[in-house]
Amino acid sequence: MTGVQTCALPICFFESLGLTLVVVNIVLTTIGTLRRQLLDHAIRDPLTGAFNRRHMDACLADAVERQGRTGAPASVVLLDVDHFKRINDHHGHAAGDAVMAGLAALVRGRLRRLDLLFRIGGEEFIVLLPDTHGHDARVVAEQIRARTGEARWFDAPVTVSAGVSELVPGETAGAWLRRADEWLYVAKREGRNRVMGDGNLQVQP
Ligand code: GH3
Ligand code: MG
Ligand code: MG
Repeated sequence: MTGVQTCALPICFFESLGLTLVVVNIVLTTIGTLRRQLLDHAIRDPLTGAFNRRHMDACLADAVERQGRTGAPASVVLLDVDHFKRINDHHGHAAGDAVMAGLAALVRGRLRRLDLLFRIGGEEFIVLLPDTHGHDARVVAEQIRARTGEARWFDAPVTVSAGVSELVPGETAGAWLRRADEWLYVAKREGRNRVMGDGNLQVQP
């Protein structure tokens, strides 16, 4: 009887220890997953899955610093849905939301792995294209513009306008973005559904 007890005790101990380690492992894995999800939610827009403005500020600052150190080019495309207010007014807010989500998916489908999409306001998106000169960024923007015109997220066509700017060595992220915004304004003024960018080179619709 005593022999059985002295023999069962270590088995019991190691079983408990093993079980404890399994439970601790499960708890740590779950905490890690929740932590990653929480961090991901903190930097994404829930409607479109695009990154938010706060994350954009950090990524643009990285691109500026990288150019300062290595001379790597970078460009941004500022996209804005044309007459989005009309879409909401005439077709309802749900149609507007479907356009947002559809456009984000369309843009993501066109981007490379290192390119990043941000939603920075109501119906405005920024695409950050690392290692990309303005000319190539305008080609990407033009493809997005053309594909948007062909998409059908509800029963009426949607168009986008875009302003493109390449990071100039020594300038701030704010100045870089402002130029994209100025080009977007020109694209709107010239009639919308078009891409305008640095060098005053218009990519014709
Ligand atoms: P423009 O061609 O000059 O860009 O005209 P616009 O109507 O697109 O621009 P404006 O800035 O006048 O209107 C933007 C509208 O976007 C107004 C706002 O109600 C709508 N909006 C902003 N965020 C959301 C959203 O998350 N969902 C929906 N459905 N609408 C939104
Ligand atoms: Mg806008
Ligand atoms: Mg708009």
